[in-house]
Amino acid sequence: MKLKAYTPGTIIEPFRIRSVEPLDFTTVEHREKALESAGYNPFLLKAEDILIDLLTDSGTGAMSSKQWAGMIASDESYAGARSYYRFEKSVRDITGFSHVMPTHQGRGAEHILFHSIAGSGKIIPNNTHFDTTRAHVENCGAEARDLVIDEAADPALIHPFKGNMDLEKLADLIRTEGAESIPIIMVTVTNNSGGGQPVSMENIRRVSELAKEHNIPFFLDACRFAENCWFIHEREAGYADTPVIEIARELFSYADGCTMSAKKDGMANIGGFLAMNDGILAAQCRSFEILMEGFPTYGGMAGYDMEAVALGLYEAMDERYLAYRVRSIEYLGEKLLAAGVPIIQPTGGHALYIDAKSMLPHIPWNQYPAWSLANGLYLLGGVRGVEIGSVMFGLQPDGTEKPAAKELVRLAFPRRVYTQSHVDYLAEIVIELAGQRDRLTGYTIIEQSPVLRHFTAKFLPRESS
Ligand SMILES: *Cc1c(COP(=O)(O)O)cnc(C)c1O
Repeated sequence: MKLKAYTPGTIIEPFRIRSVEPLDFTTVEHREKALESAGYNPFLLKAEDILIDLLTDSGTGAMSSKQWAGMIASDESYAGARSYYRFEKSVRDITGFSHVMPTHQGRGAEHILFHSIAGSGKIIPNNTHFDTTRAHVENCGAEARDLVIDEAADPALIHPFKGNMDLEKLADLIRTEGAESIPIIMVTVTNNSGGGQPVSMENIRRVSELAKEHNIPFFLDACRFAENCWFIHEREAGYADTPVIEIARELFSYADGCTMSAKKDGMANIGGFLAMNDGILAAQCRSFEILMEGFPTYGGMAGYDMEAVALGLYEAMDERYLAYRVRSIEYLGEKLLAAGVPIIQPTGGHALYIDAKSMLPHIPWNQYPAWSLANGLYLLGGVRGVEIGSVMFGLQPDGTEKPAAKELVRLAFPRRVYTQSHVDYLAEIVIELAGQRDRLTGYTIIEQSPVLRHFTAKFLPRESS
């Protein structure tokens, strides 16, 4: 070749699109009516009324042609299906855990695990519990304790592993409460509720050592293990040349088990699993699984869904895919920061989080500033994000309210779904809304349920804040 070899700097979507789904364009007037009929709760909007849906990255991804092919070739036998064994083989290959129980989704695994190990008087430490995890811990009478490092509390502070567990706080908890009241230690990778921030391998290793020292099992909430491993690859000394799959194997090697939502880094539309090494606990979990989820070789999943996950777990670790995914979110973050929009820094693996507390200082926490911001994004641009703030976390088990640690709007990216021009549009809408921030007002809750109220609560906008 006469030309000099050249490495392009542009990170492109590492796929081409062979099947398309048209977007739904609507007017502001239409969106105003739609939001009002939804009780001003974006969870209650119809998908057809939304242009760009960043409510969640859970189960919303696009599957590959290989996954679809695997689904056609699935085995739907009730017991001992080939699809189950392919699923088990993938999970074992990546995690090394010997007992693999499929569940209908991540919370199915949480339900079985906490039912089997927790109860009143018990405490479950985690870097930050995800909402369903916290709800399952509390539902069985135990207490959920978040022990993430203090750096995580400052949205603008840059730290490579802002999802890390605070080892001193963890050691303190074990000392003051006693190992017998802590049935497991959990770490969530990446730390979803804390901004999609990663946990370092060193932190995982040290949590694991502490757990072993006190004979406490250590479980990962592994929903975004591949994204977490990518950040380790990019940011932690000694891992730049290690393939992501090897990083994943090392990560899981420090744990005794995991819960997993295959709707995240399983690259599937539904599914999950509970996996562990302890055969006695596994037997106990399996009998509850039969009651709640299904026979242990399908546990709430169709054979074709197990096929999709068996392949998807590997596709999630594809380094070109991970580079594109993390870059899309970082690119949006750069545009917003340049325009002065406060966001959690650095940007996370699956989502960008806007800091509504600093963006909307005129709306107090008990008028839900992040809720107001999420509704503003919808009205202005047909974009659906989700509040992660005092609506999601403010209601206490005793019925009182207290402010959440942060007031965030999460823009979660479905996997392999949106392209760079969608991200450009998104940046334009957020920046325009930031310019009109004074026009946003707070909200009042007029109807709510006692647990996970954000999914169904109804609201009214206030005249002024
Ligand atoms: C999504 C999620 C769960 C729950 O999984 P589902 O499949 O939604 O039931 C648990 N933990 C984390 C960190 C999650 O992101």
